[in-house]
Amino acid sequence: MKVLVTGGAGYIGSHTAKRLAEHGHTPITFDNLSTGHRALARFGPLVVGDVTDPAALDAAISAHRPEAIVHFAALSQVGESMQRPELYFRNNVGGTVALVEAALRGRIGTFVFSSTAATYGIPSHVPILETQAVQPINPYGESKLACEMLLRSASAAHGLSCTALRYFNAAGADPGGLIGEAHDPETHAIPLLLMAAAGKRAGFAIFGDDYDTPDGTCIRDYLHVTDLAEAHVRALTLSGAARFEAINLGTGHGQSVRELVDAARAVTGRDFRVEARPRRAGDPPSLVADAGKALDLLGWKAEHSSLDHIMRTAWDWTNAPANPLHNRG
Ligand code: UDP
Repeated sequence: MKVLVTGGAGYIGSHTAKRLAEHGHTPITFDNLSTGHRALARFGPLVVGDVTDPAALDAAISAHRPEAIVHFAALSQVGESMQRPELYFRNNVGGTVALVEAALRGRIGTFVFSSTAATYGIPSHVPILETQAVQPINPYGESKLACEMLLRSASAAHGLSCTALRYFNAAGADPGGLIGEAHDPETHAIPLLLMAAAGKRAGFAIFGDDYDTPDGTCIRDYLHVTDLAEAHVRALTLSGAARFEAINLGTGHGQSVRELVDAARAVTGRDFRVEARPRRAGDPPSLVADAGKALDLLGWKAEHSSLDHIMRTAWDWTNAPANPLHNRG
């Protein structure tokens, strides 16, 4: 199958493009390269274009005739979204509106959407089921929820099949050393820990050690990006006219920030300075998926997501020559 992968030059998009190719599909990457990297778009044709641009979308669709869309292209920094909410709504919601319209013009009936656990906000229960209330607490989560609402309505109105995959914490890298996470600036815990281990940062700050959790630090559900990629490929087979599903992707188990620090030290064999700082605004104490629906509907569960494997592959990528950020301080 030919699949248009918006944001296919980004972190999760590039791993999904690779997995699609491994399953015999043809990924067509559509990316404006604002945060993605040309070097990561290596598994099929690359079209450089902006997802908010209807003419660019139409041109890509008529040139390549994809049968399905996997939509990653979006801004994803919570802090930035608090400063510039209009940018997040324009890009994330505006981009999804433009893409749905282009899908309708191009008669593409299958749509897989990159969503997030940030749609839940501060959960009332952990592990989190998809039926729990969605009450995002930042514009990033709000923008993703608005896209889900559009997709739900568009699937009913136009007979599309839409799946929104709500990721917990994506981490790790493909073991081949050619693709991985390359955010600039980096804000995520695991790459920051490994940059500290590599001597590229002075140390690592734990954002809050006074939470109501066993060791006082926040708990998250870390999922290896190759597991995440596989779930997208399976979601393409969830067909059914006018069907919309929101599905959590996580392991069902949580790890604390202190456990990440210990794993980073163990895997790298390096020590680095770690200090507790005040809490970061908007961080819920614990986010862990109930991943039962993904197993039921997609036959999917995490298989490569031990913290050791996540840390090892992320460490290899930190030091890989192909990493676009490798030579930067
Ligand atoms: N975190 C931290 N120090 C950092 C970056 C993150 O202590 O420099 C914590 C953060 O507060 C959260 C966890 O690590 O509890 C995961 O944060 P990340 O930004 O990786 O993902 P998020 O859960 O915010 O999507």
